[in-house]
Amino acid sequence: MACVRVKIEVTGIVQGVGFRPFIYRIAVKNNLKGYVRNRGDAGAEIVLEGEEGDIKNFLKDLRTKKPPLAQIHDVIIKKLGGKSEYEKFAIYKSSNELELSGSVIPPDIAICDECIEELRAPKNQRHEYFFITCVNCGPRYTIIEGLPYDRENTTMRDFPMCNFCQSEYTDPLNRRFHAQTVACPKCGPKAYLTTREGNLIEHKDPIREAGKLLSEGSIVAIKGYGGFHVATSTTKDEPLIRLRKVKHRSQKPFAIMARSLEVAKTFAEVSEREAELLTSYARPIVLLNKSDEYYLSDLIAPGLHNVGVMLPYTGLHYMLFDEVDEPAFVMTSANPPNQPIIKDNEEALQKLGGTVDYFLFHNRQIAHRCDDSVTRVHNRNLVFIRRSRGYAPAPIMLRVKAKRCTVGLGGEQNNTACVLLGNKAFISQHVGDVENVETRDFLENAAKHLIRLTNSKVEAVACDLHPKFTTTKLAHDLAEKNDWQLIQVQHHYAHIAALMVEHDVKEVIGVCCDGYGYGADGEAWGGEILLCTSESSGFKRVAYLEKQPLIGGDLATRYPLRIAAGILFKKANVENWLLQNKRSFPHGESEIQIVLHQLEKGNNIIRTTSCGRVLDAVAAVLGICYERTYEGEPAMKLEASAMKGKDVLKLQPIIKGNTLETTQMLLEIFENREKHSKADLAYSAHAYLAKGLAALAIEKALENSIKTIGFSGGVACNEILALTMRKIVKSAGLGFLVHEAVPPGDGGLSFGQAVVGGFFQF
Ligand SMILES: [Zn+2]
Ligand SMILES: [Zn+2]
Repeated sequence: MACVRVKIEVTGIVQGVGFRPFIYRIAVKNNLKGYVRNRGDAGAEIVLEGEEGDIKNFLKDLRTKKPPLAQIHDVIIKKLGGKSEYEKFAIYKSSNELELSGSVIPPDIAICDECIEELRAPKNQRHEYFFITCVNCGPRYTIIEGLPYDRENTTMRDFPMCNFCQSEYTDPLNRRFHAQTVACPKCGPKAYLTTREGNLIEHKDPIREAGKLLSEGSIVAIKGYGGFHVATSTTKDEPLIRLRKVKHRSQKPFAIMARSLEVAKTFAEVSEREAELLTSYARPIVLLNKSDEYYLSDLIAPGLHNVGVMLPYTGLHYMLFDEVDEPAFVMTSANPPNQPIIKDNEEALQKLGGTVDYFLFHNRQIAHRCDDSVTRVHNRNLVFIRRSRGYAPAPIMLRVKAKRCTVGLGGEQNNTACVLLGNKAFISQHVGDVENVETRDFLENAAKHLIRLTNSKVEAVACDLHPKFTTTKLAHDLAEKNDWQLIQVQHHYAHIAALMVEHDVKEVIGVCCDGYGYGADGEAWGGEILLCTSESSGFKRVAYLEKQPLIGGDLATRYPLRIAAGILFKKANVENWLLQNKRSFPHGESEIQIVLHQLEKGNNIIRTTSCGRVLDAVAAVLGICYERTYEGEPAMKLEASAMKGKDVLKLQPIIKGNTLETTQMLLEIFENREKHSKADLAYSAHAYLAKGLAALAIEKALENSIKTIGFSGGVACNEILALTMRKIVKSAGLGFLVHEAVPPGDGGLSFGQAVVGGFFQF
């Protein structure tokens, strides 16, 4: 029988997912000789010798029996000449070769069922071992410093395997065969508890002790896979008050970790889709509606109808709950204001020592920081608020191929970086607000790391149109240094471009609503209807919300009564009303007089079409929120109120030319504020905006013979607006698109910018 020799190169997510052991097994099963090895380009290289039929069966197995976490993008097969030279099939030492582009390592993966079982099995060598992992689970993205994915290129290199772990690692029949994170209590990372000063507290069971401390009301910083969490009880107010005070977070919701899905259902409504998400290997935070029986502290998510819940995703998390009855713990990212999540022990001691009572450390280093992901479900649609742990850096697969490799750097808030290569978009973990050196460096490193991992040859860099953003400056620097073309993309156009390529549509009327984006005319935009086609370069702004004044610029964003005053001033005497609320102005009556004076003279006023600011104004008129202490707060609390309301005012949209008016709507809310419930008025405002935006978008679609309307921007996370608009647009016989794979908010901006640079503009 003739021997055939072939070389196979596989791209995709094929390192860190048990791919080599899998190849080993199917090669041996099909009587083939040769080798498999990882390469520095994140791909795998296989050489096979054997009979043609066996190779065919191997290729069939490759496609149909691949490990659950592997993604196979390309399989390149080359016939080799020469005589057979291998005695058997083996896993070879990795090569550093960089040949192909577009492969990547997997995201961090939640502990698998088999590992949980072993964690709980008294006779198992890893019984009660917090860092139990296998070929199918454990940290990946956050542990890998370089490629190929071998233990010495990860932060596990500090933990040489013991004989037992080594024996599993080298046994082809073991599920830890070639698992790079394999470790046990003898050889692996160790957890330990310290005081807030970092003094060791001797305890034989530090993790369960930490659980007890939490349940007793202590605040504990806990080191996880991608950084530190600050944890505390969810049923006691005292530690939550203390935590809010030291973190200077009076209102911002804290995420919580529930001990199990069943327990989450005792305080929140969990749909089938939400349960799927909560238990998926990505284990994101899911914003769940509080149930009528909600019994956790009101200090967790004050004023909101939902609460961010995740399930345990490491052995350590499971063990925290073992000896306590707590239904859930607060688990909020440990990051100082405007700085990235803390990942190093020393840094944690320095920056959190004043905040927490104890530290639960482990002695394994984190290579790359990564915050938890945050999601929400509208009906059955997944909405990413933040796409990070569990998702990044796995690519978003597109139906179309970019014309050139482009990196997007995002805007200013909730930032990410994106590398667009062919039909794949690699979006980084959540970076946060890029306003200072720390976050700028984090963004730059995240972008460079992605470029290196995917072996991308970047040709262009895309950023925002805003001349003063830190990211714009970074893009200029990178363009110059690397000789990349620089492309500046208008904020809302980037959002809609993202939507177009995500769904592969050639033309769309895009409704883009958010808080702020630098307009093509230099003004403050945020409630835009854009006509976008893939043929022409650029976009056409066909409609927008009425321009409204922001008195004192950024001050108005922080104190939404200023926005409300600015809008109502034209039609009503607001002085008495403002004076009734003078305590909501930091400087009381004198501040109100200045505001009124400025309104009369038209001084110190920025005008904006922002949809977010209109929602803020409604929240202020209804007394739902007078100060924005975190991004989106007034609008989020308004939505929370509206969830229980109905459309009592039934306002008809007032459209003048290309503008949806908002003044009359706010006036109606203002004048009816004593007559109807807050919930009903809050809902009526939502209904007005949804109806008005949908009507304008439909009008523009018909005018331009376009069959699809899209909805993007941070406001698209709002369930009432998204679902109401969908209903109206669908009943007009048009298509309605929202994001499924990328965040509608600014976390998706880097992708949209890269899309414009990679597909539309040259
Ligand atoms: Zn496992
Ligand atoms: Zn071991």
